[in-house]
Amino acid sequence: MTNLVIQPASSETSKAHFVHTVDPRHRDLYPKNTPFPPGAATMTPGMRLSDPHVRNELTIQDLQVLQAVHSIDGNVAFWGVTDRNDGYSAHAWGRINAGDRVIFTGKITDLRTGKPSKTGYAYATGVVTHKFRNHALAEQLWGVDDNGHAWELMYAIADVKRISIDYATLNAATLKKDGTPYSPRNVPQGFDVLSPEQVEAVFKLPSLADLEPRRADLEAQTIEEELRPFVGETDAEQTAQRRLEQGALRKHLLPGSTGVCDLCGRTFSERFLVAAHIKPRSQCTDAERVDFDNVAMLNCVFGCDALFGKGLVGVEPQGAIRVSSVLNGTELAYVQDHLTRSAVGWTRGRAKHFAWHIKYEFTS
Ligand SMILES: [Zn+2]
Repeated sequence: MTNLVIQPASSETSKAHFVHTVDPRHRDLYPKNTPFPPGAATMTPGMRLSDPHVRNELTIQDLQVLQAVHSIDGNVAFWGVTDRNDGYSAHAWGRINAGDRVIFTGKITDLRTGKPSKTGYAYATGVVTHKFRNHALAEQLWGVDDNGHAWELMYAIADVKRISIDYATLNAATLKKDGTPYSPRNVPQGFDVLSPEQVEAVFKLPSLADLEPRRADLEAQTIEEELRPFVGETDAEQTAQRRLEQGALRKHLLPGSTGVCDLCGRTFSERFLVAAHIKPRSQCTDAERVDFDNVAMLNCVFGCDALFGKGLVGVEPQGAIRVSSVLNGTELAYVQDHLTRSAVGWTRGRAKHFAWHIKYEFTS
């Protein structure tokens, strides 16, 4: 069942966002005083996934889903709403599913008179392919609003098409939550997500009826299918991918400016902490590689990263630290001083990777 995302985009700011990250092709949507750039009429909608401004801000999971749906260097339209204090936007955004249809609504410019249209329209539509929260990307794409909020409740859109449904028609086809019709004069005021029951008739309107929802396609995709684009990637792509993944992994394990070393339990500032694979990346299946919670841990560079990496320290099935007999002298003394307890980062989910490390990397 497909929801309908009502996305008002009528203000100069929203229209600027629209032409920047959704679709640059429509002259009547350009904000005042923004010249219609030459070639815009034939530009491809959306942003390229390979654009570093986009790519570097996405988490590896989000990037992989987007690449799977839109192809590795595909074009993706992005939209975002701010998380306002009333919580309504976040609540509505939370109901969006991949495969939902979005319509952009608002006044457009009458190109003959240069004035805004008298009534508003649903003027563009697309299919939501992925929903994700990303403050950094939102700020990168659109900056912040007057209150300093970024449009961080984001979603990606495919198949952007121009439509033209005036508000009276839209209202007549839409039901309120209680099942009663909207007044013909209703103006969609805010971002909202309407249930399939409320918008059944909207999907039958001529300009939407022939646009097939893609939910079935999206749901058919398993994780493996989403990751398939990376099979057969070139060395250069692998390097870029690894770097990106490493960054995302680190961010995942260390969201703040300080963190706790998963082996010795000491707290360090971020410059002394690294994301360390428990099972080496090269040995991981695709699914393990992106299982950030379990496949990697945070290690301090004051010993733990090197000791674990060289197989001189391991973690036993219940979390106890095992120390290699190879160590002696000052090295052993250091380990005894700092690594006497159980590994604080031991979890049930990580246990199998620690076992792998003991079996294949640890020097007893
Ligand atoms: Zn440590």
